[in-house]
Amino acid sequence: MEFSKNELLPILNSLVAQKRLNPKCIACGSEDVKFDPILFRLMEYSGKTVELLGRQRVFLLKTCQRCGHTEFLDALVLGLVDPKTGKKITEK
Ligand SMILES: [Zn+2]
Repeated sequence: MEFSKNELLPILNSLVAQKRLNPKCIACGSEDVKFDPILFRLMEYSGKTVELLGRQRVFLLKTCQRCGHTEFLDALVLGLVDPKTGKKITEK
């Protein structure tokens, strides 16, 4: 699932203004960080080839362009995804 720049930027700015999102790298302090417009999913690994029923989490990735440190920010906690419909939320 991907956000357009016009969708994601106002959301990120709002979260930063609410102090719910740190716009700096927590490892080196650089302000040169990139938020990936694509949400990624991490799934529980159970040893099966197909993980259709695995527990999973959805994340917004924040990567420092100076040191490469990457944070996984929970998309549900940030309100980027509706937990009932699974669709992205673009209105704040
Ligand atoms: Zn860094």
